[in-house]
Amino acid sequence: MKLIPLPAFQDNYLWVLHDGHRALVVDPGDAQPVLRFLQRDGLQLEAILVTHHHPDHIGGVDALREATGAKVFGPARERIPEPLARLVEGDTVTALGLTFEVIDVPGHTAGHIAYYCAEVDGAPLLFCGDTLFSAGCGRLFEGTPAQMLASLDKLASLPGPTRVCCTHEYTLSNLKFARAVEPGNLELINYSQRCEELRAQNLPTLPSTIDQEKRINPFLRTRLAAVTQAARGFDAATPEDDAAVFAAIRQWKNVFR
Ligand SMILES: [Zn+2]
Repeated sequence: MKLIPLPAFQDNYLWVLHDGHRALVVDPGDAQPVLRFLQRDGLQLEAILVTHHHPDHIGGVDALREATGAKVFGPARERIPEPLARLVEGDTVTALGLTFEVIDVPGHTAGHIAYYCAEVDGAPLLFCGDTLFSAGCGRLFEGTPAQMLASLDKLASLPGPTRVCCTHEYTLSNLKFARAVEPGNLELINYSQRCEELRAQNLPTLPSTIDQEKRINPFLRTRLAAVTQAARGFDAATPEDDAAVFAAIRQWKNVFR
């Protein structure tokens, strides 16, 4: 299987997974880069997996469905171009002979879902949309901090080697914030250096892994003393409560330059 992040717009990735014949794509905000890629490699698009309703994730769905006949899968509770199979946690999707489990991850949007496959060529794979980014997480447009924290806890409980396919290249700016939250985290300094080298060559910093994110992502580390303390440094009135600390870190990121 080949896993490819097709760049689109300013900083989106349209993830394509293929076996040399059949392909699936995740969150195609734009049909053109996907169609060009399918044509160039002679691939048949079998499935379109959608994580949430934002235009930069669904803009190409109709054109791709029409051009390829691919089956569309998406969240049960969001407005996605019909027809599609509507999914909730516990449902599974079979594509390319692989089984993907659906995980509900509300927070960025109210009905956001993620797709997890326990094994693709020896390691698990996660398509998490705009919920988890490398060193960051999605903005809370429709959900509460408690919901987003619970969603991120679910993703953090997946096996460490799980490859995390995020839909934006936000890593360097996220890392700048992460270093402000945890200036004493040496792993952050090493990881930042590796990611800066990749971006200098115009290469993606993704996929990340769950293990990597647990070591450097402040939004997966809000229960650690250093991060809780940093949250109080931003807002001294932050209560002793997981969701409140998470909310303070998220708010700090929103205003961080
Ligand atoms: Zn979004």
